[in-house]
Amino acid sequence: MNSPVAAGKAQSDAGTPVPDAFFADLHLHSLFSDGTFTPEEVAERGSEAGLGVMSLTDHDTVEGCARMAQACQALGIEFVVGAELTAEFKEKEVHLLGYFFDPHNAALLAEIEKFQAVRKNRIFEMVERLNKAGIALRAETVFELANCRSPGRPHVARALVQEGLCATMDEAFERFLKKGRCAWVPKCKISALAAIALVHQAGGLAVMAHPGLNHCDEIIPGLAGQGLDGIECFHTKHTAKMSKRYLNVAARLNLLVTGGSDCHGHSKGKPLIGGVKLPGVYWQKLKAAHQARAGCGGASLGAAT
Ligand code: AMP
Ligand code: ZN
Ligand code: FE
Ligand code: FE
Repeated sequence: MNSPVAAGKAQSDAGTPVPDAFFADLHLHSLFSDGTFTPEEVAERGSEAGLGVMSLTDHDTVEGCARMAQACQALGIEFVVGAELTAEFKEKEVHLLGYFFDPHNAALLAEIEKFQAVRKNRIFEMVERLNKAGIALRAETVFELANCRSPGRPHVARALVQEGLCATMDEAFERFLKKGRCAWVPKCKISALAAIALVHQAGGLAVMAHPGLNHCDEIIPGLAGQGLDGIECFHTKHTAKMSKRYLNVAARLNLLVTGGSDCHGHSKGKPLIGGVKLPGVYWQKLKAAHQARAGCGGASLGAAT
């Protein structure tokens, strides 16, 4: 786990003094995709962890954002709309985090709906493969358990555990679901350039999530030249050395810096909220960049209503 750099008494680009202990977590999941917490639980735990800003970045959905915005407001926490899209560039998988976009944007919602349909088909395909391997799981069981529009492999894994077909989620991934195993079905990905354009046309900023996990350093300059706004330097699975490396990459390419825990609730072990705290100075720079782009000079944070 990385240790974020100290914020100190820095000034943001916007000129706003940043308090010493002001931290953000800009990468969080809820049960609207493959997390296990409700948006209210995410907000509550973020508040307990002392966060000043949070974003909900569920996979291929913005459904939880309105509830999360409301819960954050009640707790005195700043909220920014977000989502995580699985994309690819030059045959490399990258995860793109969109922030500040209009959650009602028609083009964005239409694209999200397409991906949700593909996710549903992928579940049917995974279950069919499991059945062929003699594992008696029903697709309906997965959909009932997932109870959301963005079902994924973790839901299949949880269903296998629930039905007593695997002892743990790790076993489910190891035996059936990880790449190359019998029930693995590749995920449909949007082109990274299309995803960036989609987020931009909806008024948002596009950030590459956890570059250290996707082993895609060589494509960062290309994407930066094509509109990528930032990179997630701080992440649960980035070591301090990796975070430092990406801070250097961001400085060199003039990219914004973000960070988040990528907490999925209990679905991948213990909840991670609070484990990664992005110093407020980076949040202020992100916000200032959005405001400059939108020409709104400080009015809207793009929170869902
Ligand atoms: P998908 O997007 O449907 O391909 O599923 C990917 C998700 O499965 C990611 O959030 C991974 O972190 C998660 N995942 C991968 N391996 C495991 C595991 N052993 N236990 C729990 N979740 C996992
Ligand atoms: Zn996830
Ligand atoms: Fe991701
Ligand atoms: Fe994530």
